[in-house]
Amino acid sequence: MRIVTARLNHETNTFSPLATPLAAFRPLWGEEARAAGTGSATALGAFLAFAQARGATVAVPVSAHANPSGPVADDAFEALSAAILAAVSEGCDAILLDLHGAMVTESLDDGEGELLARIRAVAPDVPLGVALDLHANVTPGMVAAADVIIGFKTYPHVDMAETGAHVARLVGRMLDEGLAPHQAWCHPPQLAHTLRMDTRVPGPMADLVAATRAMEARPGILAATLFGGFSLADLPEAGASFVVAAESAEQAHAAAAELGAALWSRRAEFVYDEAPLAESLAAARAAAEGPGIGPVLLLDHGDNCMSGGTCDVMDVLAACLEAGLDGIVAGPICDPDSVAALFAAGTGAAAEIRLGNKVALPGFPAQAPLALTGRVASLGDGSYVVTGPTYTGQRFSMGRAAVLDTGRARVLVTEEPHEPWDLAIFTQNGIDPRAARFLVLKSRMYCRPVFEPIARAVVECASAGVTSSDYRLFPFAKLARPAYPLDRDVTWGPR
Ligand SMILES: [Zn+2]
Repeated sequence: MRIVTARLNHETNTFSPLATPLAAFRPLWGEEARAAGTGSATALGAFLAFAQARGATVAVPVSAHANPSGPVADDAFEALSAAILAAVSEGCDAILLDLHGAMVTESLDDGEGELLARIRAVAPDVPLGVALDLHANVTPGMVAAADVIIGFKTYPHVDMAETGAHVARLVGRMLDEGLAPHQAWCHPPQLAHTLRMDTRVPGPMADLVAATRAMEARPGILAATLFGGFSLADLPEAGASFVVAAESAEQAHAAAAELGAALWSRRAEFVYDEAPLAESLAAARAAAEGPGIGPVLLLDHGDNCMSGGTCDVMDVLAACLEAGLDGIVAGPICDPDSVAALFAAGTGAAAEIRLGNKVALPGFPAQAPLALTGRVASLGDGSYVVTGPTYTGQRFSMGRAAVLDTGRARVLVTEEPHEPWDLAIFTQNGIDPRAARFLVLKSRMYCRPVFEPIARAVVECASAGVTSSDYRLFPFAKLARPAYPLDRDVTWGPR
């Protein structure tokens, strides 16, 4: 038995100006891809374990993952898909893919749908199972091409391997028992907000994921997933949906419709109404003067690295300085020019920089860089080892890093956009984040496991970046309308 498995992940923010060339994926091919995937807590890891348990010959043409950014370069998509297609064309008994489900390329709105259709063209009858991210924008093309699609049930995503194992189990039953899954997709016209998808807290997301688990316990239902979707993508199908696999088509459709109706009845709870920035800063100031120890975390969700943000929008830091706050630590802010200027000045030297607001955001008003003067407090290579719970033990690089101390704020400036995965982004650069009064991070979710425990309070702050929570800022053109909550008076019912 020969199994082809591969990993290809990208969440595309179609409004992001950040390019996504092949190099952004740091692709691993063949043996290197297999070695990296083996034992990893990913769907690919589970697929490899499945193949090994069956004693199958396994081909891993590629494992590639890029951080969220703008549309994928056409030549990158072609190179990555060609590797998978070539492996499938050699003949195989099963195909197991670890995809994201929200990949848009320069020329294709539905990257995964196109890849799966190409695979179907050369392997029409081979069982094809797909694991997707909870933030997938599922399309009819994906559902039609794959035998089984299952997504993560947790956000933050801690069940990637479990999801892969579920997909593999069903594909195993297709091979062994002739199981023939029928899939149904139900897509209420809803752009759900990422900040309303945390499955760890009580709320609509946790309830509806519990409903999918209850659905899976019913006889005849093989899998049920709530996809929260990724709203920062201008394509017709962007938004939340359900995919159900069942032993009969009727049952799959009925179950998907039932779940879709449940989501629609709670649509208002998936809306995130952001507070004006001035209000957030007033709340932060009050929290700093209140009880507790540690900094107040200010999370800039409008310019979030892990959703395609440029990490150079200066709204929040500028407003903090204007409001007279002090004891500020902020970063990482991506500005290679300022890093070069600070390195040229040297440690301890006085420096004057014009920080951020340099990457043009199509459709958004241009803003001037923030003029800052201070002293170069530290210079470093920007690499560190994660001690936090996500990516524990991995070494990450932010590009070269420099800290400018303005007196009221210490600002960490880096050459690359970087999610604050660990306290080490600051401690490696001479800053103790625990001692800050206000800690400004360009993050919405992934910083939380590490930074929340040291913080006295968390305040979400709005900014006009390409991951803004205010969907009215985005020039949607292809999105199917009406779409709630952009359009508030929408009537909908599952067909
Ligand atoms: Zn996700």
